[in-house]
Amino acid sequence: MTTNTYDAIVIGGGHNGLVTAAYLGRAGLRTVVLERRETLGGATATSELSPGARVPTLAHTVGRLRPSVVRDLDLKRHGLVLIGPDVRVFAPGPDGDAIVLRADPGTTAAGLRARSAHDADAYLSFDRLVRSLAGFLGELAARTPPDIESPGLGDAINGLQLGRTFRGLGRKDARAITRVLPMAVADFVAESFETDALQAAIAWRGVHYTAMGPWSAGTTAVLLADSAGNDGGAAGQTVFARGGPGALTSALEAAGRAWGVDYRTGAEVAAITSRDGCATGVALAGGEEITARVVVAGVDPKRALTRLADPVAIGPSLLWRAGNIRTPGTVTKVNLVLSGTPRFRVAGDDASLIRGRILVVPGIDPLERAHDAAKYGRWSEPPVMEATIPSLVDPSLVEDAPAGTQVMSVIAQSTPYALRDGTWDERREAFGDLVVSTLDTYAPGLAAMVTARQVLTPVDLEREYGLSGGHPMHGEHGLDQWFLWRPLLGHARYRLALDGLYLAGAGAHPGGGVSGQNGQNAAREIVADWKKRRG
Ligand SMILES: Cc1cc2nc3c(=O)[nH]c(=O)nc-3n(C[C@H](O)[C@H](O)[C@H](O)COP(=O)(O)OP(=O)(O)OC[C@H]3O[C@@H](n4cnc5c(N)ncnc54)[C@H](O)[C@@H]3O)c2cc1C
Repeated sequence: MTTNTYDAIVIGGGHNGLVTAAYLGRAGLRTVVLERRETLGGATATSELSPGARVPTLAHTVGRLRPSVVRDLDLKRHGLVLIGPDVRVFAPGPDGDAIVLRADPGTTAAGLRARSAHDADAYLSFDRLVRSLAGFLGELAARTPPDIESPGLGDAINGLQLGRTFRGLGRKDARAITRVLPMAVADFVAESFETDALQAAIAWRGVHYTAMGPWSAGTTAVLLADSAGNDGGAAGQTVFARGGPGALTSALEAAGRAWGVDYRTGAEVAAITSRDGCATGVALAGGEEITARVVVAGVDPKRALTRLADPVAIGPSLLWRAGNIRTPGTVTKVNLVLSGTPRFRVAGDDASLIRGRILVVPGIDPLERAHDAAKYGRWSEPPVMEATIPSLVDPSLVEDAPAGTQVMSVIAQSTPYALRDGTWDERREAFGDLVVSTLDTYAPGLAAMVTARQVLTPVDLEREYGLSGGHPMHGEHGLDQWFLWRPLLGHARYRLALDGLYLAGAGAHPGGGVSGQNGQNAAREIVADWKKRRG
């Protein structure tokens, strides 16, 4: 048995763990990242699905990445190249029409006019409102939630700064944000738009990756949080990393290595060790022990507290609360290799229209009905989906594949972790067939182009990627698990249960998505504690 000692151990090499590790390395802490899988990246990975064809394994867009993370860690120098196509959203309807949302709100509004002058007129002010409210949430996302039990000077200063930002919203938007955050996103979009297809194309971001429907309370907060800290606006972000999301992972690893961070893959942490209420290190599944004053969980908080921490050390009350962190995974990822570029009926030969996110979300009611199905243990028929064809904007993904090959990444929603009829192991491929046949109704001929396919259900996300309940965000984005309550009231400040134990993954404030914000915020708190300890 070998024993190693570091200043800091990061459990899990997802992008947030990697961000934290790089910041800790930069601050001079001897840091190691321990990743259970054979590759780093977690949900931010690229994999080869058939010879020469590389797909975004799970996440496909990275437009929520905080610019300050890119800057601080010098990710561009370490190879990160971001690509943002002009078309953000292409949402074909069953009627042969489509909603197209572009980067420029003015161009989007002009395009909407043919369908509804009312919606075209409303789009610019809605986009402005989303940007303004999301701007405030972006500020909130970058801050550590206040200490409610014993607030200190830092909390007071933080509060004052936030108060100033809040006042900066202006009277009207300040009132708006307190009103709209708990609203159902279906109501929020209906206040501005009359076209169902447009309402649905925007409302999608209020429910994606969640077990909620557009009529669920708090889904407006999810929509606005999705735009926080990026130039999302009403259309939302659609930004790809050249080489796929794995290229972000490689850049983060390179940044950390430059500051001396060590990385170990195939290193599953079986337990967080502790003594007298202080974290002391970890024990690996193979029996090896590694010690450190700082232990950072880049895994989800339910897993960290109920599977890895010593139950005696954290106590029955916290164990019970952690066991009740809601992780209702409802996302299935379907990756496809295609022998050519699919022709969507509305887009025809204009492939520029399908360079962004393609939404198969035909209306508010279909979105709600999809949620209803999942609520009762069934997948929705037809499924609601967000797809991308990243090889259209990044040919490097298919440069070694036969000419004409494209890769398609499909996020299918409302596929419950626990199926009422059968198991995912029995029904995985039947769902893959349904996804392909549904896409084929919008892009006839697509099914015949599929040369390779991968279906990753919520159960696979849990088994393969360690996501409790298969939840992509390490915990539902409900108002009960937001800000001060994420992951649990009293544990929202990145410090978790034991002295020296921290949470840096998506289960911390401000939640999931490829933002690196959680990792950045956690690192700030860890370094502050480290300096205090050193006097
Ligand atoms: C299918 C899917 C599609 C998505 N699409 C998008 C998208 O397009 N855009 C977007 O912004 N967000 C998307 N998301 C959400 C986003 O990818 C995640 O919220 C985010 O990447 C989580 O990052 P993380 O670093 O916090 O955790 P993770 O990426 O989950 O990393 C945690 C790591 O911990 C490791 N681990 C677990 N247990 C152990 C252990 N015991 N010992 C050692 N290591 C362990 C895991 O293997 C994993 O590598 C998607 C998520 C999924 C699942």
